[in-house]
Amino acid sequence: MTFSRATRLIHGQANEDRIHGAVKMPIFQSAMYEHGPGGLRYIRLNNTPNQQSLNHKLAMLEGAEEAVVTGSGMAAISSALLSVLKPGDHMLAQDGMYGGTFSFATNMLRDYGITVQFFDADSPEIWGSLLRPETRALYVESITNPLMKVCDLERAVGFARQHNLVSLIDNTFASPVNFRAAEFGFDLSLHSATKYLNGHSDIVAGAIVGRGDLVRRAEKMLRSLGGSLDPHACFLLDRGLQTLFLRIERHNENAERLAKFLQGHSLVSKVNYPGLSSHPRHARAKQLFSGSGGMISFELHTDVDGADRFIDLLQIPIYAPSLGGVESLVTRPAISSHASLSPSERRHFGIADSLVRVSVGIEPADDLIADFAQTLESIERLAA
Ligand SMILES: *Cc1c(COP(=O)(O)O)cnc(C)c1O
Repeated sequence: MTFSRATRLIHGQANEDRIHGAVKMPIFQSAMYEHGPGGLRYIRLNNTPNQQSLNHKLAMLEGAEEAVVTGSGMAAISSALLSVLKPGDHMLAQDGMYGGTFSFATNMLRDYGITVQFFDADSPEIWGSLLRPETRALYVESITNPLMKVCDLERAVGFARQHNLVSLIDNTFASPVNFRAAEFGFDLSLHSATKYLNGHSDIVAGAIVGRGDLVRRAEKMLRSLGGSLDPHACFLLDRGLQTLFLRIERHNENAERLAKFLQGHSLVSKVNYPGLSSHPRHARAKQLFSGSGGMISFELHTDVDGADRFIDLLQIPIYAPSLGGVESLVTRPAISSHASLSPSERRHFGIADSLVRVSVGIEPADDLIADFAQTLESIERLAA
């Protein structure tokens, strides 16, 4: 009998973790290993016990052939892209990608003679016209930051297959609980495990998940770039993963309740959340994802100062970048993730300077809603 992913995530492979009967996989704090039949074992080669145990779990989570844990989300993304693309190659990529990836794609890859052509998530009909003989890959994100756009992922996979492109997806925002990108058909699914997979805002890590031959090629690149995850961080990631399903269920529920509350409030002008029927791709998100995730962004009927005051007055969410942890966090993308864009570029992407983004944590939803309600009331009083 095959048990659920949630159970297998907690227990790992049969007996594998019970070294000397230990209920928990110990931390193998050893850089190198005695020569043996398995060949050279070394942390940078990603083949030590803590790494291998995670690799199995990460592959299982997405229904993938293989996976490799990495030292950060960017280590996963840069290694994967450099293993897929060669000088002269061309890649199609969705607009509004994660800032670190955008910078890597537009600055570093260009220096290596690789060109990236961006497309709007809502216009798959033009993808064909962007193809070149040297196009090798298609890159999308499951849910984009900070507007929570959901691209036609089914069409992306189909288009990549039809044109012999490697399909890559950054699946960080949805998490493998809400979307099994590899099983869905993406060749490579990339994660910042710093976010939901670990879930406790205390390590930086990543993962490359997908087709065996491609994961092995990316892992080879990772060895050269040196972006491996150390054993202690592996231990923490494994501990975080054991509650992944519980946490994501709560993130989904909390975000959905908070999004609905915000949408119904007179001071809120717009809410971006795929789980709301007002989201332009709600039907698609519902079909693709088993939950809508924990990320919300919204605009108030106030100016930028009003948005800053709002963030200031909130009591529970911490004003901090990043996302995916147990604690709620709040940011204003115009001065954090999208600060490097010019005001006109931000306007082009639809990111208002007053846009507020919330990584909804796993605190009781009633507390979160009470905090947001009280803060909105204060803002209204201040404006009156
Ligand atoms: C944070 C993040 C990354 C980068 O991950 P690091 O772990 O910080 O290197 C990549 N993609 C998305 C969507 C992210 O949120």
